[in-house]
Amino acid sequence: MTDQERIRYSRHLSMPEVGPEGQRKLQAARVLCIGAGGLGSPAALYLASAGIGTIGLVDFDTVDLSNLQRQILHGTKDVGRKKLDSACDRLRDANPNIEIALHECRFSATNAVDLVANYDVIVDGSDNFPTRYLSNDVCVFAHKPNVYGAVFRFDGQTSVFAPHLGGPCYRCLFPEPPPPGTVPSCAEAGVLGVLPGVIGLLQAIEAIKLVLQIGEPLVGRILHFDALKMNFRQFNVRRDPRCPVCGENPTITAPIDYEQFCGAQRDVPEMSVHELKQKLDAGESVELIDVREPFEYKIARIDGAKLIPLGELTKRLGEIKRNGQTVVHCHSGVRSANAVQLLKQAGFNDVFSLAGGIDAWADEIDPAMQRY
Ligand SMILES: [Zn+2]
Repeated sequence: MTDQERIRYSRHLSMPEVGPEGQRKLQAARVLCIGAGGLGSPAALYLASAGIGTIGLVDFDTVDLSNLQRQILHGTKDVGRKKLDSACDRLRDANPNIEIALHECRFSATNAVDLVANYDVIVDGSDNFPTRYLSNDVCVFAHKPNVYGAVFRFDGQTSVFAPHLGGPCYRCLFPEPPPPGTVPSCAEAGVLGVLPGVIGLLQAIEAIKLVLQIGEPLVGRILHFDALKMNFRQFNVRRDPRCPVCGENPTITAPIDYEQFCGAQRDVPEMSVHELKQKLDAGESVELIDVREPFEYKIARIDGAKLIPLGELTKRLGEIKRNGQTVVHCHSGVRSANAVQLLKQAGFNDVFSLAGGIDAWADEIDPAMQRY
């Protein structure tokens, strides 16, 4: 340790639970953060400052203005940059003495095993089920602790999934991903900006404890945080001997990509943005229904679209023409697929979900449109 490092880490060095030996463990440790977003930002920032010797970041996204409400690794000047680039700049500024390994890719079945193999602890900062299940499974295979975190509006939870340390894995609790479209994404449901800060930092603390092998890790426990009630509760969770990945007779023994599965809606007819554009240009009578929320409609809308938020759809069916073609759109296509299923059940026949939603429209048809 250099003189500079002794000063930098002096508050750690004076703690008996860390001390010079612990600080050397932190310096030798390799932690992989999946995602440089809401959870990954605070986690990676504090792990870097704490002196974790190698921090890996997996991300493929670019910084968007709507990220800055919570993704504190990135600043206003970074909008449009790759998240990995702005994250790397910030982390190097926080601590130039550590290695930062950038993995610019989607965490997928093809690379997950190799990525996880290079690290001691995995911090799952993902915001979607395909990645969460993949991270869980691969960590079980590799006997690496998976520090889990999830946020929703004012609520968050965290745990350490580590069957090799005696606790359950994520699949012991939730064996299979939920059906596509049944759980709203962060973008759809919203999240208090500070909330992922709290959960991401709890994940960072658990990662550090695992490296130092001190205290009681959140193995076999889920900690739930309710920001409105300002209340932490914990639940004991057990390993399920019938778990498909860590149980006695596992049926999942290789990484699975849920991407196609989770992204696709079954039995929902779709229309592409180009098809819709052609129909509108040709003056065909197509009724366009926008099932997003009013605040989204204010950000961007397709001319002529009628706003009926998904939650109001069943009681406003009377506002939709029955004798004509209906195209439903949302932000990216999940809510509209649900809406189409609802409309079909209500007897609408000629109804389509706009593939990719207004985001695809902005990308492929109207580049001047505000994206979010
Ligand atoms: Zn399990």
